[in-house]
Amino acid sequence: MLIGVLALQGAFREHQEMLAALGVESRQVRKPEQLEGINGLIIPGGESTTMGKLLQDYNLFEPIRQKALQGMPVFGTCAGLILLAREIVGSAQPRLGLMDMVVERNAFGRQVESFEVDLDVPVLGEKPLRAVFIRAPYIVSVGPGIEVLARYGDKIVLARQGRFLACAFHPELTDDTRLHRLFLEQC
Ligand code: GLN
Repeated sequence: MLIGVLALQGAFREHQEMLAALGVESRQVRKPEQLEGINGLIIPGGESTTMGKLLQDYNLFEPIRQKALQGMPVFGTCAGLILLAREIVGSAQPRLGLMDMVVERNAFGRQVESFEVDLDVPVLGEKPLRAVFIRAPYIVSVGPGIEVLARYGDKIVLARQGRFLACAFHPELTDDTRLHRLFLEQC
């Protein structure tokens, strides 16, 4: 198995380290041809406006969209979740729009830069998942094709639509590998 990690900006190395810990090979993706032969793609956290601009500059938008529509699993974390959303509240920034959900950026308030919580994620078992939120978005609403996998309070922070998975937090910054393993099952 070979997993691509979009490596234009943001926390891509940490995702690669987590994949390595799981014994899975990964490849940094910066060019369309690097999408060939991968079994899935991770879009890391970072800054979604910057990443969207770089996706355009590197001509990666359409190739990723096409591959995804042809069956490539995609896992977006934090800024990656924003890029997967169909709609971003108050923003016309470029996005892949692969998941039928509306997201809001920096939704926990600008003064709350980052925080950690234990989330109940039934699909991962009984043990709560430690989640690190950094200037995090959340999912405001979802379409009928989306499964909500976790909430923090009343806010949706983890969702799945078929082979697309998105979380508002940074699973690559803890040593709990369960969410990456859930994604790998799709790959
Ligand atoms: N606030 C960032 C954005 O809007 C996301 C933050 C993150 O990925 N940690 O893109």
